[in-house]
Order: sequence, then C-alpha cells, then structure tokens
Amino acid sequence: MIDNNRLPHALLLHAQEGGSSLAIALWIAQNLMCSDRSNGDACGLCANCTKHLAATHPDVHFVIPVNTNKQVKKRSDAVSDSYLESWRKRMEEGPWLSLLDWYRAIDIEKKQGNIGIDESKSLREKLALRSFEGGYRVFIIWHADRMNTEFGNKMLKSFEEPNEKTVFILTSEQPQQLLSTILSRTQIIEEEPTTSDQIAQFLETRFGLDPTISKNLAFRSEGNIVHAIKEAQHEDEPWLDEFKDWMRHAWKRDIPMLYTWSEKMAQKSRDAERQFISGALMVLDRCFRMGWVESGIPMESDEAKFYNDFSPYINAANVEGFMKVLEETSTHIERNVNAKMVWFDSGIQVVRLLHQGKKALESA
Ligand SMILES: [Zn+2]
Repeated sequence: MIDNNRLPHALLLHAQEGGSSLAIALWIAQNLMCSDRSNGDACGLCANCTKHLAATHPDVHFVIPVNTNKQVKKRSDAVSDSYLESWRKRMEEGPWLSLLDWYRAIDIEKKQGNIGIDESKSLREKLALRSFEGGYRVFIIWHADRMNTEFGNKMLKSFEEPNEKTVFILTSEQPQQLLSTILSRTQIIEEEPTTSDQIAQFLETRFGLDPTISKNLAFRSEGNIVHAIKEAQHEDEPWLDEFKDWMRHAWKRDIPMLYTWSEKMAQKSRDAERQFISGALMVLDRCFRMGWVESGIPMESDEAKFYNDFSPYINAANVEGFMKVLEETSTHIERNVNAKMVWFDSGIQVVRLLHQGKKALESA
C-alpha cells in the first residue's frame, strides 16, 4: 500500500494480546518517514529513520492511555505528551508491552488509562500545525479503545475531512469497544498470531538463549510475545503469584483469606483484573491439557513443580466450571459490579470446583 501510495488515512490494527501491533504501527510510520526507502522497506539509516527509531521524530505522534500520577497531578495535564519521556524510555526495551506494563512504568497501576478530552485538545493543536519535515505526519493511537466519546468525535472529524499526508494508525485488542462510527471509517488489518517457531527464533536472537530453552519458552507463551520476553528475563507475571495464592486459599477452604484476597483484587484496576483472568484461563487450560499430553509441557524447575503438583486437580470434572466462573467474573467486572463481592463469590465457587476435581482424581 505504501509503495502504491494507497495507504488509507485511517488504519486499525486489530491486535493479538501480547502481540506485535505496536511494532507493526511503528514499522508503517518509519516507512512513511524514511527518505531512502527501497525494496519495500525503510533504510534504517537516514536522518528520518534515526529519529524515528529513537521515538523522537517530530512528525510521529503517540496517543497513549494515561492518567494522573505523582508528578502529573492536574487532570488537564494528563495527556500523552506529559509522558513522552517515559514512553521513549520504555520503547528502548522494544515495542512489546502490555497496557499494565505501561501503567506500571508511569505509576498509575491502580487507575485506568484514558484517552480523553484534554488529549483531543492536544490532537487538535497538532493537526493545525504543518508537518515539521515536510512529509507525512503519523498519529499512532495505542489501545485506541481507551478513547472516550469526545476524543472519538474529534477523530471522526479528521477522518471525514482528512488532512493531506496525515495517517492515523490505531491499535486495539478489543476493537468492538470502539465507536461504530470510527470502526466504519477505518481500514481494519488483522494481526496474525505469532507462531511458536517465530517466538523461539526471536528469543534466541534477542536474548542469546539456548535453542531448547527458547523453544520451551515459546511453546509456553502461546503466541504472547510479552509473556515470552518476561519469562526470558525471569520477570514473573504478578498475576501468577496471585493465582497460586487464590488456589492455595481455596484448597484449604480458608474463607477469611479468600475474603482478604478479594479485597486485594478489588483494589486493582480493571485492566489488572482482566489480565489476571486471561492469565488464569491460560494456566487452567495448560493444566487440563497436561492430563492428556503424554510428554507434558516443557518447563523449568519452579514452574514445573507448580504445574506438576496442581494440574492433576484440573480435570474433566471441573475444567468447564472453572472457565465459566472466570468468564462470569470478567463480565461482572466489566459491568462495574462491586468487585470485592464478585471476587469473593468466585472464590467460593473455586473452593467447590477444586474439591470436585480432587474427588474425581481420588475416585479415578
Ligand atoms: Zn530511512
């Protein structure tokens, strides 16, 4: 599309969770900026590419979900530009990060990031200016589903009366949450899932890992590059410990601890709760499959111990029930139902399910 000058002025990358949509958006932007493009790729060496690769190109703008924090106290200051330095710093580690990784980087973990009214003012000001380098201007809107209606309407106006040489690249894991008027005006590109082999190759090259370890990590990541990178760097996902605690309390039928655990969960942002649920579903799915796959799933020591101990209790007697509880929890949380009660109620159901699995195992 770039070669034939047919790139639409509004693209929506339907992102895979933990995938490469930001990397793809950056690649498109770089190709629009590059002054020495050949064979369908940017040169990587020209002044435009150099600036872009440092995330400092004046014509590439980032719109990212943010909120107030200890430094940015005023609501009206909570716009992407106030967090550009943090964004650039995080980008140095590569364009693979979850929304929660970003919230952690700017210390707004307990809040939701938004793209709101003040951001739309900032966008309007930028659109009124000319391109700095005389070429394209690109606006990368990361996790575009975080935009509120006001911002969305501002965007619509730009879509309807497109500025020359201005391209919007939206990324979203949940495009169904975008305004339908926005959806209908963007060209949607589906990100393909990354294969296990691709991730293994990537880990080997990027971290110089042993091929067998890379393969194991890749296999376990189930297409989620963000997870794979974390495991390669021995960073634990916080949700995994929370999940283990939850199961431990449920196993002991420790109601007071289940209650305390629910209180802790309820203090988290909805994004953190969502990530917990998607992580928990992954663990349960893996445990269930371990009962069927003879060779087991390749894992290193600590984690292997957890899976070996825990997986027999996830079986045909309870796996569906578990999935259902988590899906319901997710729905309730999205609807803003009292989170503490939702988690506590789910915890009680987990007690029942876990012991169902135990009974099935013992009678097998
Ligand atoms: Zn270049």
